[in-house]
Amino acid sequence: MGGGRGAHFSLSRPAFSPIIFASYSPSTAKIMETSVRIASRFPEMGTTIFTVMSRMAAECGAVNLSQGFPDFQAEPALFDAVHRYMLAGRNQYAPMAGMPELRAAIVDKVAALYGARFDAESEVTVTAGATQAIFTAIAAFVRPGDEVIVFEPVYDSYVPAIETVGGKAVYAQLRFPDYTPDWESVQQLITPRTRMIIVNSPHNPTGSLLSAVDLDKLAKMLRGTNIVVLSDEVYEHILFDGEQHASLCGHAELAARSIVVSSFGKTYHITGWKIGYVVGPADLMAEFRKVHQFNVFTVHAPSQLALADYMQDHSRHLGLAAFYQEKRDFFRNILAATPFELLPCRGTYFQLARYDRISDLPDREFAEWMTREIGVAVIPVSVFTHDGRDDKVVRFCFAKKEETLLAAGERLRRLGDRA
Ligand code: PMP
Ligand code: GLN
Repeated sequence: MGGGRGAHFSLSRPAFSPIIFASYSPSTAKIMETSVRIASRFPEMGTTIFTVMSRMAAECGAVNLSQGFPDFQAEPALFDAVHRYMLAGRNQYAPMAGMPELRAAIVDKVAALYGARFDAESEVTVTAGATQAIFTAIAAFVRPGDEVIVFEPVYDSYVPAIETVGGKAVYAQLRFPDYTPDWESVQQLITPRTRMIIVNSPHNPTGSLLSAVDLDKLAKMLRGTNIVVLSDEVYEHILFDGEQHASLCGHAELAARSIVVSSFGKTYHITGWKIGYVVGPADLMAEFRKVHQFNVFTVHAPSQLALADYMQDHSRHLGLAAFYQEKRDFFRNILAATPFELLPCRGTYFQLARYDRISDLPDREFAEWMTREIGVAVIPVSVFTHDGRDDKVVRFCFAKKEETLLAAGERLRRLGDRA
């Protein structure tokens, strides 16, 4: 017993996944070691950056702008509705694909926004958040030896999911500093083994967007192939400066080969509820559900009913862009007074900034230093790459109360004025 090997995160870059970051030393709690000998399936895997940085923020008393979650409350109407459905006895298993009321509300929303009416029976599935949806889609379509194209910087759950099912991640690069795709180089990555391509717009961590022109290029590139598209659109309602979301739902040719993922966590400020959904053509959805039914079966019933009611008021998701644009602008003004160099932020609730005028530390060390010495926790962007490519950029989450952003601003003044 006692602090065993597993208790210490390694500072070295893990070989298994590009995403995992670790330099955190846990407290002195007694750790129990197993007497069973197992060869770890993922010997190099550490702990997700979001957990590592949030924990470090708490230990250092830093303002936590690292992990992406709002620090403000959702509307009480949503909580009242869950309570009402619980008291009304709606507490048993929902149908495997999700409550019909919620699926109908999703179909209506997608039709109103993107002009495509999916079939609530066969083309919509409610999931335990987007993470499960992504994992399930990968497990349903990717077999050992298959290749999956992802774009770097890449959200941290994709590659571990691909590798868990024996697939191989193939890395396309979003071009620094505006993080746009280069479709000609993506085309070079396609082989007979390519099974899937994963796109994410608005993009975490960079805040970049795919345009309608990008979707046309992607559609053309995939014509005649059997490649499935997994489109992570969890920030579909958070786009700024009047930009319109180019959903794959609204692109008939791509929609016919895509599973599109969204998350109520982002849209209604309830990341802890872990409820999301996927839409896609019936034949792909049938395969998705084969996996879904045995790893989740179904999702928290009263919350689904509450969300179905809550979704009826479309102003709630339609107002999100303006709500977050105000926060983005407020936070950008704060950062603009510091030596950070702001990168564009066209969507999501993340702001990237270059710090080369502040420090020449590698970005992971810089993020730790920021957390410990400045008192503001951030995410280093190199952890979203397989080779540790370091452009000296960190990610801030601005889904925070004004007072939180102001408190961060106070601390950031320790960095001095804009150089
Ligand atoms: N994809 C992206 C791009 C995300 O940023 C997140 C979470 N922030 C997820 C998926 C996971 O969403 P959920 O919390 O619904 O699992
Ligand atoms: N998606 C969130 C982010 O990017 C975090 C989710 C998580 O902690 N797994 O910060």
